[in-house]
Amino acid sequence: MLPDYFEFSLPTCVIYGIGIINQLSDAVAHYGPRRALLVTDAILVQAGLAERVQAGFRQTAIEIVATFDQVPPNSTIRTVEDCAALGREHGCDLIIGLGGGSVLDTAKVANLLMVKGGRVQDHMGAYLLGPMPLLPLLLIPTTAGTGSEVTKVAVIADPDHDVKLPFAETQFLPDLAILDPELTRSLPPRLTAMTGMDALTHAIEAYVDKEWSPAADGLALQAIRLIRDHLLRACAQPEDLQARGAMLAASCLAGIAFSHSMVGMVHGISHALGGVYHIPHGLANALVLPEVMDYNRDARLERYADIAEALGVAFPRPGAALDSLLRYGGLGFATPLARPLRALDRRFRRQAAKAGVAYVRTLNRQLAHLTGMPLNLRDAGIKDGLAKLEQVVETAMTDGSMLYNPREPEREAVARIVRALHDTAVTPLPVSTADLRPAGKRAAADEIRNVFQDAETLYRVLGGFFERLKSDPQIGGPLQASGLCVQFAFDPPAATMTIDARGDEVQIYRGAEFTGTPEVTMSMSGDFAHAFWHGRVNLVSALTRRQVVARGNVPKTLKLLPILKPAYALYPHYLAEVGMAGKIIR
Ligand code: NAD
Repeated sequence: MLPDYFEFSLPTCVIYGIGIINQLSDAVAHYGPRRALLVTDAILVQAGLAERVQAGFRQTAIEIVATFDQVPPNSTIRTVEDCAALGREHGCDLIIGLGGGSVLDTAKVANLLMVKGGRVQDHMGAYLLGPMPLLPLLLIPTTAGTGSEVTKVAVIADPDHDVKLPFAETQFLPDLAILDPELTRSLPPRLTAMTGMDALTHAIEAYVDKEWSPAADGLALQAIRLIRDHLLRACAQPEDLQARGAMLAASCLAGIAFSHSMVGMVHGISHALGGVYHIPHGLANALVLPEVMDYNRDARLERYADIAEALGVAFPRPGAALDSLLRYGGLGFATPLARPLRALDRRFRRQAAKAGVAYVRTLNRQLAHLTGMPLNLRDAGIKDGLAKLEQVVETAMTDGSMLYNPREPEREAVARIVRALHDTAVTPLPVSTADLRPAGKRAAADEIRNVFQDAETLYRVLGGFFERLKSDPQIGGPLQASGLCVQFAFDPPAATMTIDARGDEVQIYRGAEFTGTPEVTMSMSGDFAHAFWHGRVNLVSALTRRQVVARGNVPKTLKLLPILKPAYALYPHYLAEVGMAGKIIR
């Protein structure tokens, strides 16, 4: 059954890739020349990430004219106002946010102040902007947790009143979200764990809460699966960019899901713990999540069973299996078993939902073992014996997230959960190697750049190589038989080469030597061609990523690919022969 009403839209373009921060030209070309404000924090500047982003944008028409790098964890009203003032002072007309949720949320609300003016508190609430457009916003997450790069919400702390102020505006959805796993590599394991549990919380709350919708459901379940397979690994092997990338994708999917379905009681309590006791958001979510799952379980039994399944809890369905056999397999004699087996299915699902809660508790303990993540609120920083429990409960009960929880949040339940999390003596749990999936292949982080310094070098190297292919016994014949005329337009360095197989003999032309009309033109950088001839890139996905732009009969050209396979082994040898062994990608 579907809900009575749902809506789904994602105006944000999401791009993902290891090292994609160096390849932004196409993705941002339509903005034209801009004066950008970069919003980030001091730690990210120190880690060199701000410089990497600046270098990436130097290859585009967007000029970063001011950098605000003073965002603290759990950004505050004052921070946002200072940030907006800097942007206004420099006449910025585009905002880039680089950081965790604290930075991204600051960029969102500073954008609002820069355009609309006023104080932060004036804008607290939901959908107050109407149709007023804000400045283009480009967000680059460096944690894999909040999903803020694809959500319409922002949370800013008001330290004078010990609360976190919520903001929701459609215009907070950025124009572009740039997911580059390289930029999360420096995130320490403990923060990786805490922010990863934030993402898991988003996915689980989005899936069970009152505003669920089918599109958000699909994203939430896939996010849960990705986190199941990659969170422990990202903590245990911080350099594993495949695990880092999967976590970034998961937090992005979970962000899209909860931006549509909203979150629930876990966030209500976590926001209160953040406001009153300054507990980091991800950690608060990690600790509160299994307790609220347990509280909500009976109100959404079926959905918690789905979650358990996505987490990898397998359970049998004998009733469903027999039902299909009865329907299609003609097993009439087994009909009396159908009812009791269906009842057994329900029991298994109930147990599975319970096991899902146990899974999350176990995951927290494993993360604690791997990263030192605290497992109770005392270790998380509450040193006053929970003297402000009443304030936490009061703040939680008035938090907007509570409205979406599938079960009415009761005051006593909130107090009980917070007290239990304070007093618990649960201990870390060692992680087996089976829990850590094999490390992914390390991505080509140290790829070789600017291989062909000028057109002359490119003509010499690639031109010579094409001549070699022409006379190769495995390649020359099929190339001739293809009858194709393909032109390669390189940039940088600006050069063209044309392979014309339409006549009796394959001809190779450099630059203006070719005066005809090619059937296909493929535009790419010299570095891309270099990686291609190593067999290191996929042309089809390069077309999707616009690393290659093709004009003409592309399918016919792609059919050539199998013919070219032997060339990938030849190219490194050829490079060595022509004195370019140092440029071989190993
Ligand atoms: P954070 O942004 O507060 O960052 C935590 C710490 O990690 C900071 O010290 C930061 O410098 C450091 N850090 C970040 N990336 C790093 C990297 N790659 N290498 C080294 N250090 C790095 O943490 P967060 O959990 O991402 O964000 C929490 C904030 O986001 C809270 O204010 C929370 O309320 C808010 N939030 C917003 C949304 C939303 O949709 N807008 C959703 C959830 C949470």
